[in-house]
Amino acid sequence: MLVLNTRKKIEESLNVFWQDKKRIGFVPTMGYLHQGHMELVREAKKTSDLVIVSIFVNPAQFNQAEDFNNYPKSLEKDTAMLESEGVEILYIPDAEDFYPNEIPKIKIQLPGMMDYLCGATRPGHFDGVLLVLSKFFHIIKPSHCYMGLKDFQQYKIVKRFSEILNFPIQIIGIETVRESDGLAMSSRNARLNEKEREAANLIPRALKLAEKLIHEGESDLNSLLEILSDVMKSSSLLKIDYLEIVDPELLTPIAKIQNQMLVATAVFVGSIRLIDNIQISTEKG
Ligand code: AMP
Repeated sequence: MLVLNTRKKIEESLNVFWQDKKRIGFVPTMGYLHQGHMELVREAKKTSDLVIVSIFVNPAQFNQAEDFNNYPKSLEKDTAMLESEGVEILYIPDAEDFYPNEIPKIKIQLPGMMDYLCGATRPGHFDGVLLVLSKFFHIIKPSHCYMGLKDFQQYKIVKRFSEILNFPIQIIGIETVRESDGLAMSSRNARLNEKEREAANLIPRALKLAEKLIHEGESDLNSLLEILSDVMKSSSLLKIDYLEIVDPELLTPIAKIQNQMLVATAVFVGSIRLIDNIQISTEKG
């Protein structure tokens, strides 16, 4: 596996793949890899001529310095994991090379899609995500980009943004990989203490309950949200940042039950903010 740090090195290595119009699968990450990331990598490996994974804790998308500074790192282990999956290139951008001047401040608005969920509670977050991914897309010129549905809003926004700007890249969403008790795998889980880790499984439990209740005929979304919120509030360690039921295409809140719904939540477990979601369909079959 080649480990590269600069745009020039990427260009030198990928030139022949671009010329031959090879299928380049790209998996952007912030490192501290777990099986959720590896599922993206495995899916990319299945279908690509070459897989490139990036590890970059992008300062532009953090709205809290503490979260950025404490973001866990394990470069040696990450490298070994990627190597064992047969990844061809690991791109760890040198910050100076990636942002040669100061980090640019850009503002991107996709009204509706960005107004709720993390868009409302993490101001500037998606501006940073779209900035870094646009740069990656130009530097790497992948044909496919693999993203997790755990970050459902991010996936939808990136997909829409790429379509609007005609990036010739297919954005592929991969199902959330979970721990045995249902907690969505996340690099941030490593920062939970034992009690917090135990309490955190109320998040997937609440989401699964939403699915069960809807399938059993619950149609009052407000009372459903109250039930879910009570489940999570049964631990004093959990503080809900948001809990909403939205249209999975528009990402705007819905008041009435519909065929396809997304229940999405962000919860502080102690000081660690975790997100998760579940897609619920009322269609039979
Ligand atoms: P991150 O390193 O947290 O920026 O995540 C990098 C990519 O991995 C994003 O596309 C995430 O959505 C995806 N990802 C993170 N956790 C999971 C998970 N548990 N299952 C599937 N994909 C995930």
